[in-house]
Amino acid sequence: MPFGLLKYGISNDYPFEKEADLPLPTELKRQYDVVIIGGGGHGVATAYYLAKYHGITNVAVLEKGYLGGGNTARNTAVIRSNYLTPEGVKFYSESVKLYENLSNEFDFNIMYSQRGQLTLAHTDATVRAFRQRAEVNKHFGGGTELIDPRDVAELVPTLNLNPANLPVLAGLWHKDGATARHDAVAWGYARGATQCGVELHQVTEVTDVLVSNGRVTGVKTTRGDVNAGVVIQAVAGHSALMAQKAGFPLPLVAYPLQAMVTLPVKPFLTPLVSSSALHCYVQQTSRGEMVIGGGSDPYPLYNSRASLPLKEGLISSAVEMFPFLSEMRLLRQWAGITDMTSDYSPIMGLSPVENYYIDAGWGTWGFKATPICGKTMAELVASGGKVPELIQPFELARFDRFKQVNEMGATAASH
Ligand SMILES: Cc1cc2nc3c(=O)[nH]c(=O)nc-3n(C[C@H](O)[C@H](O)[C@H](O)COP(=O)(O)OP(=O)(O)OC[C@H]3O[C@@H](n4cnc5c(N)ncnc54)[C@H](O)[C@@H]3O)c2cc1C
Repeated sequence: MPFGLLKYGISNDYPFEKEADLPLPTELKRQYDVVIIGGGGHGVATAYYLAKYHGITNVAVLEKGYLGGGNTARNTAVIRSNYLTPEGVKFYSESVKLYENLSNEFDFNIMYSQRGQLTLAHTDATVRAFRQRAEVNKHFGGGTELIDPRDVAELVPTLNLNPANLPVLAGLWHKDGATARHDAVAWGYARGATQCGVELHQVTEVTDVLVSNGRVTGVKTTRGDVNAGVVIQAVAGHSALMAQKAGFPLPLVAYPLQAMVTLPVKPFLTPLVSSSALHCYVQQTSRGEMVIGGGSDPYPLYNSRASLPLKEGLISSAVEMFPFLSEMRLLRQWAGITDMTSDYSPIMGLSPVENYYIDAGWGTWGFKATPICGKTMAELVASGGKVPELIQPFELARFDRFKQVNEMGATAASH
């Protein structure tokens, strides 16, 4: 055992660094240069890049609950870049690169664990789609390849290769696939932002958006009105409702998404494994718990309750993949509200209201995008509204121009 750990483990005199704190303001000012609605990962990441890399520090992040308590707290932390379209692959690859260095950037361990992700194909059509994904991913520098069932068995010897009588025909092996501690990502960004002067106001709900002559002027909150030169909304499942307050519709439908976790067992599974046909993914945490997730609830709803039918469906699929999981005890089940677009890509950038910017449509896959969203949204603000090239394909106007970025085949159970 390292000597320092032993010494400070039994002493009250741990050399606690004051600057490691998260400075929290008490007073909400009446004017900020930038107001960010939503203190999830995306909101605090945007504040961080604005303050640290663009020197814009008169920024308030307004969060109706607590820091990172929305979908950032509820997701299963899958990080990957093996999407289907060149636009998607380029965008998520940049996010993976930022994630790889995030612990260093924060000087704070986000427990980034690059253990690879394996998606199983059970039909010929899926094998063809996987081949395309592998080629697109490789083209942009990602680590993805199509592997045969023998390689699948070698990677995951405990996997049933014929789950629910659906033989595994191939696997999409993405060696860049990873997980990170979701709270730590939000805490790291929030700490970095607040140390640069950004204010994070928790328990402060935005109840309306103030617009005058087509331009945003501020927000109404449960603690009074706040003026702002620029407002960004980053409220995940509540995106369409927030945009309505600003006076325009967003083409989003909110669905609950559920996941669950078991009690821990000895480590037996390194990669993340998902089945495209069973709509189920399974991973083992560093504590040994099994995290199990799948597709969204089959109906739109603003409610984050967990339900028995989803639990039964997910467990039976997980047990088909790893039969010995039937012996395990479930610890917890939960849900979050996710905002889905029709093309399964996000909506980022400008809105019909001047200086009101959108970070929305993250559905079931937005945790992995947290760093690149923060970085590009900050660039958008700092440049006075010039949309960075990387996020141009995700503009809201694509729905009017019929230029959708169809990622449906690469989201779903892969997460
Ligand atoms: C079960 C589940 C599993 C998932 N698994 C994955 C995964 O493995 N990988 C992945 O990449 N993604 C995953 N996701 C999706 C991912 O969690 C989200 O896309 C991502 O967390 C969105 O981040 P965010 O910061 O935009 O949202 P959030 O973390 O939800 O932050 C938005 C914040 O806005 C606040 N807010 C809302 N309305 C207001 C208001 N009026 N005023 C002030 N604040 C407001 C909320 O309280 C919330 O804290 C999963 C989601 C769920 C539910």
